[in-house]
Amino acid sequence: MIRVAVNGYGVIGRRVADAVAAQEDMQIVGVVKTKPDYKARLAVEKGFKIYASDDKSSEAFRKAGYQVSGVGKDLVKEAEIVVDACPEDVGARNKATYEQLGKKAIFQGGEEHDVAGVSFVAQCDFDQAVGKRYARVVSCNTTGLCRVLNAVDKAYGIQKARVILARRAADPEESSKGPIDAVVLDPVTLPSHHGADVMTVLPHINVVSMAYKVPTTHMHLHSLIVSLKDGGATEDGVKEAFEGTTRLLLFEGKEGFKSTAQVMDYARELKRSRSDLFEVAVWKDSIKIVDGELCLFAGVHQEAIVVPENVDAIRALHGGYSASDSIRTTNKSLGIIK
Ligand code: NAD
Repeated sequence: MIRVAVNGYGVIGRRVADAVAAQEDMQIVGVVKTKPDYKARLAVEKGFKIYASDDKSSEAFRKAGYQVSGVGKDLVKEAEIVVDACPEDVGARNKATYEQLGKKAIFQGGEEHDVAGVSFVAQCDFDQAVGKRYARVVSCNTTGLCRVLNAVDKAYGIQKARVILARRAADPEESSKGPIDAVVLDPVTLPSHHGADVMTVLPHINVVSMAYKVPTTHMHLHSLIVSLKDGGATEDGVKEAFEGTTRLLLFEGKEGFKSTAQVMDYARELKRSRSDLFEVAVWKDSIKIVDGELCLFAGVHQEAIVVPENVDAIRALHGGYSASDSIRTTNKSLGIIK
């Protein structure tokens, strides 16, 4: 059993903890929480040991009637691999502790590539992370783009890709951030960081991106224009390539999938925990090739897509697993169809 700690029990940390607990070869040794809020109560109800982030937080837990098993550093000592799911930049600060205690760690997409040196999407570059000390599971947008672009690149080769991202303004629980009544350029000066971030995983693909935030909470939508190397590429060929790609599902507008709302409605019917959609959602009938350029729409359930990647990253850092074995095992445990 690989002993895993989760540092930061928010949107991503809570999901990763459940996914790790569902693996036959892994166990959760504990989770780090900053405050004794309802998420701490949920962790206790799930049987996870709670560690306070520091002495001050430990005191707050004690006053609220919680028994904590120690502070974050104590948990890191207990673990073989830490999944750091703290907010942006906090992971980079935590690295000193992992380094000092000689522990392997997985960072999230809010951190810079250099924090880990390996940016990870299981189906693209699992082998790069095998046996390494650190890996960074890239952001939700980067993960979705990498799955789509990697499949197209393998089938036909990509000269360059141009991407426009309509980003959800906030996660559903973030009442402090929304609702907004605007389309917010994110950022105004171009390009956005997303294209460069894809290139930390797929460095040979030239990707330029622009992004804006829209008043929705439940998905990002990507519009892609991809110049193909192979002049013989066909729309049916692209669809076939996607059908054979793991963690990518095709949805058809003609079936009623007219927006991200219907995709999430479908995800609710899958009866997964929290209605999570771990797969990138590609609109099959948006796939079009015009003058050697492939156009398509793809959607990303931002809270969920990186969860299987974190599980695979644990196996990669641990060593002893092939990419295909890990992906298959993770998929089965999370109910991922293909
Ligand atoms: P979040 O705010 O929901 O969760 C972070 C948790 O860490 C919070 O519960 C916070 O209290 C806790 N925390 C803060 N400081 C801490 C510390 N010093 N020690 C322990 N815990 C601490 O954030 P999130 O959305 O889960 O994001 C976490 C990471 O995942 C970020 O890098 C983010 O960019 C990335 N990510 C987020 C999403 C998303 O859509 N939410 C998607 C993909 C990747």
